[in-house]
Amino acid sequence: MAQEFCIVCGAPPPVYAGRLCEPCLRDRTHLSKIPERLQQARCSKCRLHNVGKSWSDNDDLSIAEIRVQGHLEILSEAEDVDVGLTVEIIDDRTSRISIDVSATVHGLPFDDQHTVLLQTSDTICQTCSRKDGAYFEAEFQIRSTGRRLSKDEIGVIRNTLNEMLGEGTNDPLFFITKEGPVQGGWDLQLGSKSMARMWARRLASRFGGTIKETSTVIGVKDGAEVTRLTVSYRKPAFSIGDVLRLKDRLWIVTSWQKDGPILGSFSSNQRSGKTWRDMEKSSVICPTSDQIPVQILHRDGSAAEVLIPGDWKMATVALPFDYNGEDSIRIGLIDHQWLAIPYAAGGGLGDA
Ligand SMILES: [Zn+2]
Ligand SMILES: [Zn+2]
Repeated sequence: MAQEFCIVCGAPPPVYAGRLCEPCLRDRTHLSKIPERLQQARCSKCRLHNVGKSWSDNDDLSIAEIRVQGHLEILSEAEDVDVGLTVEIIDDRTSRISIDVSATVHGLPFDDQHTVLLQTSDTICQTCSRKDGAYFEAEFQIRSTGRRLSKDEIGVIRNTLNEMLGEGTNDPLFFITKEGPVQGGWDLQLGSKSMARMWARRLASRFGGTIKETSTVIGVKDGAEVTRLTVSYRKPAFSIGDVLRLKDRLWIVTSWQKDGPILGSFSSNQRSGKTWRDMEKSSVICPTSDQIPVQILHRDGSAAEVLIPGDWKMATVALPFDYNGEDSIRIGLIDHQWLAIPYAAGGGLGDA
């Protein structure tokens, strides 16, 4: 078989693809290419970056990776491709991306370096433009049954919305347009109906209570009615762990169902599901916040001696019906008397 020589310079073997010697092959091979300047758009209000049809809060490095991925062209014959990059911020609108590409082409190692200027221009994302326009699809009302919500309660409830938003939805309409205190509660205007519904479900499963939805037609657009949703969430007057009286018996709120709470008896293992309507006749005797964990100092068969914090007095309390040798109990002042709270009945240590 005839020895193959480079078809360009006539160099002796070995020759590679296209019958080129290694220097000639390297001359003619561009492993990768990318424009020297790239443009991107960023919302000037929330500073999210526009990526395709959505908006990203990724950091500078991840954004640079996305831009490079979108523009870097690599020789199709390249194998074992490795792309590394670093970002240097020049100013608020400009960064320099250094890119290293290495790969194997026709069995020979190749590498490339590029420096790209990434320039950022201002825009306004859809969410911010809607917020600016005071856009909202849902009104959300937080109230309690038969009383005012305390500032703390509103804080705890309101926090669950931050939690929900923090879990990251990609829905650009998940925003708060406006909010503030009203008589007995708190009102919000929310960007989307699904945000309102999602939050309401979350509140009901965590704090119990009822959700009422009403829809109002506010106009017509493209031949279809445009409606606004009002979601009214009513937190019950009691929380999990609270001791309450209903029909002359003491109960503890143990969990929530759709139609009302499940109560645990104060004196036995009995559980009882009640409706919100049943509960209208109940009264909270000792909320969780007033219940105190204490160490048992001495005990005999059915009673324990404990030190009442704050009072520095000893008190003898009857052990809870489900006492099982624990070192501590929780006590509450119920009808002017310190009583031990049953362990089984929710414990009052669940959600605040
Ligand atoms: Zn050659
Ligand atoms: Zn924005």
